[in-house]
Amino acid sequence: MLTNDELAKWDRENFMHPSTHLSQFARGEAAQRIVTGGEGVFITDRDGNRLLDGFAGLYCVNVGYGRTEISEAIAKQAHELAYYHAYAGHGSEANITLSKMVMERAPEGMARVYFGLGGSDANETNVKLVWYYNNILGRPEKKKIISRWRGYHGSGLVTGSLTGLELFHKKFDLPLAQVIHTEAPYYFRRPEAGMSEDDFTAHCVEKLEELIAAEGAGTIAAFIGEPILGTGGIVPPPEGYWEAIQKVLRKHDILLIVDEVVTGFGRLGTMFGSDHYGLKPDLITCAKGLTSAYAPLSATIVGNRMWEVLMQGADEFGVLGHGWTYSAHPIGAAAGIANLKLIDELGLVRNAGEVGAYLNKAMADAVGGHAHVGEVRGEGMLCAVELVADRDKREFFPASEGKGAKIVGAMAKRGVIARAMPQGDILGFAPPLCLSKAEADQIVAATAGAIEEVLG
Ligand code: PMP
Repeated sequence: MLTNDELAKWDRENFMHPSTHLSQFARGEAAQRIVTGGEGVFITDRDGNRLLDGFAGLYCVNVGYGRTEISEAIAKQAHELAYYHAYAGHGSEANITLSKMVMERAPEGMARVYFGLGGSDANETNVKLVWYYNNILGRPEKKKIISRWRGYHGSGLVTGSLTGLELFHKKFDLPLAQVIHTEAPYYFRRPEAGMSEDDFTAHCVEKLEELIAAEGAGTIAAFIGEPILGTGGIVPPPEGYWEAIQKVLRKHDILLIVDEVVTGFGRLGTMFGSDHYGLKPDLITCAKGLTSAYAPLSATIVGNRMWEVLMQGADEFGVLGHGWTYSAHPIGAAAGIANLKLIDELGLVRNAGEVGAYLNKAMADAVGGHAHVGEVRGEGMLCAVELVADRDKREFFPASEGKGAKIVGAMAKRGVIARAMPQGDILGFAPPLCLSKAEADQIVAATAGAIEEVLG
């Protein structure tokens, strides 16, 4: 067996990691963890640590680690039929069954599901479908997509453009011209301290209306948003936000893409975030929680009005010119079936709501009063602690101080994984949906201890 040092060296010398500081990593100056296993909400690593994963990988291992129901379903599928494509009407029992299970769980008004591999490619599919839709309807100029600053929708060319975070644009020549951004529904960072939530919602609506007026409604095809901002800081929308935004979209005949990559399949305590916030999507993006990341799989759920037009387009233009070799991969589908069954059997949607509320309250009680905590916020099994240099001014610490990363490091020493969200010192929590209250207490205690250690 390789020694830890050998493996770590191979890693530094060969492996280009995603979202990693490349030169620091190559020089051995950046964090490096070699993960060996997982059980429930815990992972283990080569250094002998056992860590409570407060972020469920990348908010995706929703049923927790080590579920043999899923690994056995994957093995069985691999033996029977590891792969066949889904082009030209081909299917397998696994992907056909999963399509039915997804549609049974989807919000009202949805017609079909298209399977991909990850959240980025699913959003790529969504943008293509939106463009295709407007071409079929004979309005080729209606193509722009509105996204929000701080939204996260992937890191491809169009999806990295949709993502409203500077890190994903900087030096990549993004965003592409077809993508425009509007105000983030981020009440804590409202433009004026005295604004009420209702005023702030009205402000977001006004900004959206201004953007639509400036660009021309005839040029705008769709609006994309996560029910609750995820990677941009775990930020629930202000009161009345989605209702007001949807009104504007309907008025200007703009499609709504709801990105449920994080919220789909239970994270907010409802099957979908759309159910939670009363959203009426034309397209829904799913990934992560669809298989709890036991195998790569994503889904684009197509709404009725879009489906009708796609059918019309097929009659006029023929075969849909869009597909991946691995679309609806049978192994991903088998993982999806076993995962959705487990979510039901273990009552994880309900648990996410209950234990999530407990975690959010316990976190607010423990650290909400700290001089450098600006806000504790969340919804369902999502929670964030926003750190500030000054509570009244709501200012971040200088980025160079890396306070969030230091606290995450101090938490790991206490046996808990949290995530320092990009662009700002925000500690993010998105544990597996099977988290218990005792485990929630462990997350809160580690957070409080680490904040005390780093910030006093
Ligand atoms: N949309 C959202 C809301 C996400 O959080 C993510 C991933 N964090 C994506 C899309 C992209 O998914 P992937 O990384 O699987 O491409």
